[in-house]
Amino acid sequence: MLVWQQNASLKPFNTFGMEVSADWLVLIQDSGDLQELIRDARWQTLPRLILGGGSNILFTRDVEGVVAVIQTKGISTIEEKEDEILVEVQSGEVWHEWVTYCVKRGWGGLENLSLIPGSVGASPMQNIGAYGVEIKDVFVSLKALHIVTGAERVFYHEQCAFGYRESVFKRSEKDQWIIASVVFRLSKNPVLKMEYGDIKMRLAERNIDQPSIGDISEAVCTIRQSKLPDPRVLGNAGSFFKNPVIEKVLYQNLLVQYPAMPHYPVNDEHVKVPAGWLIEQAGWKGRKWETCAVHDRQALVLVNHAQAKGSEIWNLSSAIVEDVLKKFQIELEREVNVY
Ligand code: FAD
Ligand code: NAP
Repeated sequence: MLVWQQNASLKPFNTFGMEVSADWLVLIQDSGDLQELIRDARWQTLPRLILGGGSNILFTRDVEGVVAVIQTKGISTIEEKEDEILVEVQSGEVWHEWVTYCVKRGWGGLENLSLIPGSVGASPMQNIGAYGVEIKDVFVSLKALHIVTGAERVFYHEQCAFGYRESVFKRSEKDQWIIASVVFRLSKNPVLKMEYGDIKMRLAERNIDQPSIGDISEAVCTIRQSKLPDPRVLGNAGSFFKNPVIEKVLYQNLLVQYPAMPHYPVNDEHVKVPAGWLIEQAGWKGRKWETCAVHDRQALVLVNHAQAKGSEIWNLSSAIVEDVLKKFQIELEREVNVY
């Protein structure tokens, strides 16, 4: 039977560590809980919010209505072949634990996505990505329940409209579905992706020239731990902004003024510019703002230094957007979900 907590603190359920409350909080442990939730009059009539690990959300106010934290567990093989395996994972599984599960079994595809906080169920929401891999590369389908009727629907790859930190669940299907499970296709003969960031450097430091997927995972974890603040120590939600994709014409104009501007080609007309570089150039890296700050090792990450309010983080992000726009004529878009 579901336990309904009234006026519950959400501080333990968001990695920014915002002290906000929810009128009602329920922890969903299995499919029975999910059915009970959907039938409940409070869920049917009040505003609703679904949470996984709370690592991609900024709360700027208390939540009116019901917050359902998805904690359902379970990993099951759907189909196994000589060279690949299809596995269904329940949404409440912790993302990094799932990655570790695959790495231990020699199933390749997720190793570059090691140590991303959050839940499996949230991973398709923004098509999580790191070190040259996105979940769309291994995604087969997901099962979702309609948020009001509970009707089940399977979304296949092409129906999710995955893009750069994007999916249909952030656009046309926003707030319509509870993602219940995700099916992944993992490879037993993986092609390793090592071109990105400092992965090769880390492997060389360890004198590894024939890396396994475990070595890649270790390298990614080590690099991430050296750069990114641990939310258990310093509240944050990872990259606050997306890396902007800009027109080549604008990029070429900017290059005259900023010849060192890093960029990555996207297609013939567009290039991606690291938002962290733009923010640093605008003078924001490491800067304090009331009780929050721009992280001193990664300017894309905004951190809660003490008892920051969501509105302070929001105001800091707005000041950054304004300055970057003035300096580069590029409008940064927030990646984090703001409530
Ligand atoms: P939440 O924050 O709980 O929710 C995010 C959104 O998804 C909300 O809108 C919520 O309503 C919705 N949602 C959650 N679960 C469900 C569900 N089951 N059904 C329907 N809707 C749901 N992201 C990357 O892409 N790459 C990175 O490398 C990366 N690194 C990070 C590093 C740090 C230190 C931190 C703090 C964050 C990082 N992130 C990264 C962002 C974040 O970890 C991911 O976006 C992650 O997938 C969020 O999962 P979550 O369960 O915490 O989602
Ligand atoms: P980094 O390696 O310092 O690189 C800076 C930026 O340049 C990254 O954001 C990345 O874009 C881009 N980049 C670097 N090498 C690239 C290449 N070969 N091709 C295309 N783009 C390239 O980045 P970092 O901050 O340490 O993060 C490492 C990875 O973890 C990145 O993929 C980043 O997205 C991911 N990450 C994400 C979050 C989040 O919350 N979303 C938080 C921490 C780290 P992309 O971001 O597009 O990959």
